[in-house]
Amino acid sequence: AVQPLAYARGLAKAALAAGAVLHTDTPVAGLSRRGTTWTVRTGRGPSLTTERVVLCTNGYSGDLWPRLRQTIIAANSFQVATVPLSDNLRRTVLPEGQVSSDTRKLLLYFRLDHTGRLLLGGRGPFREPRGAADWAHLERIVPKLFPQLAGIDFDHRWCGRVAVTRDYLPHLHAPEPGLLIDIGCQGRGVGLQTRMGQAIARFVARDDADALPVAPSPITPLPLHGLHRLYAAAVVAWYRLQDGGL
Ligand SMILES: Cc1cc2nc3c(=O)[nH]c(=O)nc-3n(C[C@H](O)[C@H](O)[C@H](O)COP(=O)(O)OP(=O)(O)OC[C@H]3O[C@@H](n4cnc5c(N)ncnc54)[C@H](O)[C@@H]3O)c2cc1C
Repeated sequence: AVQPLAYARGLAKAALAAGAVLHTDTPVAGLSRRGTTWTVRTGRGPSLTTERVVLCTNGYSGDLWPRLRQTIIAANSFQVATVPLSDNLRRTVLPEGQVSSDTRKLLLYFRLDHTGRLLLGGRGPFREPRGAADWAHLERIVPKLFPQLAGIDFDHRWCGRVAVTRDYLPHLHAPEPGLLIDIGCQGRGVGLQTRMGQAIARFVARDDADALPVAPSPITPLPLHGLHRLYAAAVVAWYRLQDGGL
């Protein structure tokens, strides 16, 4: 099985080998255009100029581009990992290495990793986590799915934001010449955005509009976006009722 992190590292290495320069931990604080030249101002001070900008901030979109943040609901996906399972237990849990998710409305996804930990993810609070208790609902589910894991310890807990759009489809926007925005992968971005990245690279390098798999659309904020936590919480409660159990 391909490990996503190793794959991402491989892509980064290939980009560096091709002459790309990566600036990590460098937030972009402003974007402005004069004619065909964009100025990208970084939060650390220096700016750079370019003819093309691709903005892929997804669930972390802030106010860099007007109204973009209001086109998505940024939801947290929470995940836990058990300690590595013993060989005996490992043989009884997803013994053929299945990568699984269930069919509930608020789906759970789970798999073993290469060290034999069971990883399980699902929904969590919309706010940022405050402590281990915010993952407790997932830890309670593990022995319900796999009773042989009752009492197992968890040694990793994490979460991150995914971007959900109104139509559950990825959106591309091209609000000004030279700027392309790619947003909204509904929590399925590992394959989707990797593929989208290839298409966007072709679009940028060859100015090939046909390379884009989705036609750019206008930036359209969700209605009453300021209340999104309220209505998302209502939807989650409704889905939880429909799911029942666990
Ligand atoms: C716990 C968890 C489990 C998941 N499991 C799966 C899975 O099994 N399969 C799957 O397909 N997907 C999964 N996802 C979803 C997947 O991680 C995302 O869909 C994917 O990472 C989206 O990729 P992206 O490049 O569009 O955005 P992101 O990976 O979210 O990257 C956006 C980047 O923009 C940066 N950024 C934001 N603002 C600025 C700024 N002003 N300047 C510079 N940079 C900025 C952020 O720092 C971030 O690095 C999971 C997500 C989580 C949190």
